[in-house]
Amino acid sequence: TGDDALAPLDASLLQTKLTTSPREVPGPNDPAIGEQKTCTDHMILVRWTVEHGWDTPQLQPYGPLTLMPTASCLHYATECFEGMKLYRGFDGKLRLFRPNLNAARMLKSANRIALPAFDSAELQKLVVALCARDGAKWLPKSRPGSFLYIRPTMIGSDAALGVQRPKEALLYIILACFPSFDEKPSAGPTSKPQGMKLLASKDDMVRAWPGGFGFAKVGANYGPSLVAQGEARQRGYDQILWLFGDDCTVTEAGASNFFVVWKTREGKVQLRTAPLEGKIILDGVTRRSILEMARQRLSNGWEEGGLEPLEVVEEKFTMGDVVAAHDEGRLLEAFAAGTAFFVSPVGEIHFRGTDLEIPLGEGSIGRYTGVIKAALKGIMYGKEKHEWGHVV
Ligand code: PMP
Repeated sequence: TGDDALAPLDASLLQTKLTTSPREVPGPNDPAIGEQKTCTDHMILVRWTVEHGWDTPQLQPYGPLTLMPTASCLHYATECFEGMKLYRGFDGKLRLFRPNLNAARMLKSANRIALPAFDSAELQKLVVALCARDGAKWLPKSRPGSFLYIRPTMIGSDAALGVQRPKEALLYIILACFPSFDEKPSAGPTSKPQGMKLLASKDDMVRAWPGGFGFAKVGANYGPSLVAQGEARQRGYDQILWLFGDDCTVTEAGASNFFVVWKTREGKVQLRTAPLEGKIILDGVTRRSILEMARQRLSNGWEEGGLEPLEVVEEKFTMGDVVAAHDEGRLLEAFAAGTAFFVSPVGEIHFRGTDLEIPLGEGSIGRYTGVIKAALKGIMYGKEKHEWGHVV
């Protein structure tokens, strides 16, 4: 194909042009943070063309992009992105959490929508470079436990209305201020002490399907979910629990993976989440980390917690299974897991006219959910030394 002659994405070439008008960092209670409108002083931008490959990456002042109205992404959703965080640790250090997994997933997403490939290790280096530039100022050492939200994005930018593979693309990385849930131990987006309330989707609103793109983090998965999400909010729920198929297979919750802890009919305590096979859910970094950690630590009983050992299972389950576990008193805990809202206990699921109450336990968080959340948090904020914590 001649692709070998094209310039690869190369973070070592990064050119830096610093802003001449640095902005003030908003205080923790500034309403602008809640709206997620405020980004840091700089961004990284890299252009790709089919003729030359990747241009020299630029670290430059944060500001508007220039796009022609014909740009591919504006018409055909040639867009993918990532969501990760930069954490200010309690030891004063700045950390990313398993950034290699986000970079690898971005490549998978780009491949699914015909955007150009790249070496994901180079994307990770660019993320680190931007965090190193703006992190110290925008996450003051005086605010341990705070974080910035990192949004690597790629768009098809060629100015041509033809429906075709983009011949030009822009890869950019921005850092956004994000509200902190730290003071609210059981917090979901609405921080209700009773846990998140989920509204099960109906079959006129399906998030993803076999052969589709639910496994990819592409914008096309999110815009169409907003009608259902809006209805949920209006009816007093926090997020949609996305179901699939005639048997109401449980897939994900909002933009998070979904887990239950239940007793099987054989009497074992089981941590269960939907499988990656079938490609209708996102391979969440939080999901994967919880599964790995639970297999390592919880399958033998959590050393600190004295909890009963868990069986860890990634297999299909349906709302019928959830309802049965609930009705038979076997449903112990449920939670949503993802970067944005971290590990959020679920207290209620509305399904076909019935509200299923899920016990939350002491401190508004189930015991297994609690140890999982605390362990991950310990790694992210440097309380536990762990290879998943990547110091910037
Ligand atoms: N599912 C969907 C649909 C998502 O958008 C996200 C957020 N990226 C997740 C799950 C959770 O993934 P992660 O743990 O990598 O944030």
